[in-house]
Amino acid sequence: MPKRQLKTLLLNLPNRNQVVRRYMCSYLAPNFLLPPQELIALGAVARDWKKQEVKLLDCIAENYKTDDVRRYIAEFQPQVIISISGFECFEEDMNEITAIKQQFPEVTFLLFGHYATLFYKEILTQVPVDYILLGEPDLIFSSLYDLLSGECAPEDVKGIAYRNAQGEVVMRASDGRIPDPNQLPMPAYDLLPAKKYFEPFLPAPFGMIQSARGCPYQCNYCVKSFGTKLTMLTPERILEDILFLKKHHGIKSLRFIDDTFTAIPKRVIKLCQLMVEAKVDLTWTCLSRADTISEEMLMWMQKAGCKRLYIGVESGSQSMLDYYNKGVDAEASIQNLLLCKKYGIETAAFFLAGMPNETREDFEASINYAIRSQLDYVLVSELTPYPGTALFEKLRSDIDFSVLPYRNELKREPGHAENYKKLEKEFYRRFYMRPGYIFGSAKRLIRNFREVLVTGFNLIRFMMENKGMIFPNYKMGFGKNDKVFKPTPYMHSTAEETA
Ligand code: SF4
Repeated sequence: MPKRQLKTLLLNLPNRNQVVRRYMCSYLAPNFLLPPQELIALGAVARDWKKQEVKLLDCIAENYKTDDVRRYIAEFQPQVIISISGFECFEEDMNEITAIKQQFPEVTFLLFGHYATLFYKEILTQVPVDYILLGEPDLIFSSLYDLLSGECAPEDVKGIAYRNAQGEVVMRASDGRIPDPNQLPMPAYDLLPAKKYFEPFLPAPFGMIQSARGCPYQCNYCVKSFGTKLTMLTPERILEDILFLKKHHGIKSLRFIDDTFTAIPKRVIKLCQLMVEAKVDLTWTCLSRADTISEEMLMWMQKAGCKRLYIGVESGSQSMLDYYNKGVDAEASIQNLLLCKKYGIETAAFFLAGMPNETREDFEASINYAIRSQLDYVLVSELTPYPGTALFEKLRSDIDFSVLPYRNELKREPGHAENYKKLEKEFYRRFYMRPGYIFGSAKRLIRNFREVLVTGFNLIRFMMENKGMIFPNYKMGFGKNDKVFKPTPYMHSTAEETA
């Protein structure tokens, strides 16, 4: 039995849009709904280590609105609520937390995430959050239970920020990254409403696993999950998670949500071999980088059921890749992408367009790159430099940034938005409207008729549920939509005050 009962609610906050919140990013996508992975990881800490009663309320998956959340809290009566804040929806998230705390002041509200870590001072001075977990949260979360149970004092807990009795913001630096994620309990997958999540053209039910944290690459626009240090689950431990999801959720498809799943090819090959031996028989996808792909790895990935790689190509222009500090040779990586075709693995690539220094030639190089590498899908978006990245620092004087009210915009030439829209449309038209592509898609549609129907249904549902996000105002990926996130009157501070 726990020393003190601390009923805990893992709360994926409500939002009028189908936002996916991750530690490293947040986004809106019509064809994805991913589980709140970081929250269920903490759920396991609370339940399996601290023996507390834990529930998850994923308001995005359940389509719960603010009033539903309040009813839920009134019924469950948690002592602790923990949430992760999104990026573009940061201000809305702060509003939701404020409203919850106003109605349930006795609840201890915990918050984590990249923005929460970076801007703990702004949050604690303006939002009634009780504790902010700084950085990788699992072990800090565990220590917080000791604090909340009265077993230790705030001074004994590292990696938290809070207001002391005098109302001053106190920060206790963390010990840094968790050296070995294998020491953490298996995420509380069973708390998820498993049937609610989906990914395009993949059979349902769909599951997700984070098998590594961090990314060793140095792309200057990227907020990595917890930093550049890569920490990984062993292939054996990953297989355990896969088998659990298969047995208990009946999953038929899977996404490895690691920042760069293919960063260590030897590990991928070992895992694929284990999956083949265990006859896992699942369709899966992952995030990758073109320069990490090798033929041997692809061969094993294909045998183990890999259907698709999501690749952050960003640009076909070497000078733009260098500007982003991508560390990739554009020409060499085309050969790797072509190898995926040989093994029947689809490639979906993310491209950036519309940076002020991108020339027409750079843009043309991206379209040519997409066509020459025979990609299956392209996703084009505009780059948002996020605080905490090298690019944000480089462009700082050209960015209109404020924490609360939340603003994060590159200062642009007048008419930029229209120009960017034109570029985006041109990219999609020239890539998707080719006779060869249309013919290939028809074949794909026939092959995967059921998944195509489900994906189409999800797309329509997304459009119905995300009013105002329907084309042409809708932006894919990390895009921000000014029409959606309203400024609120109760806050006013800037990033400079934090620095
Ligand atoms: S490879 Fe991907 S996750 Fe890693 S730093 Fe670059 S953009 Fe970020």
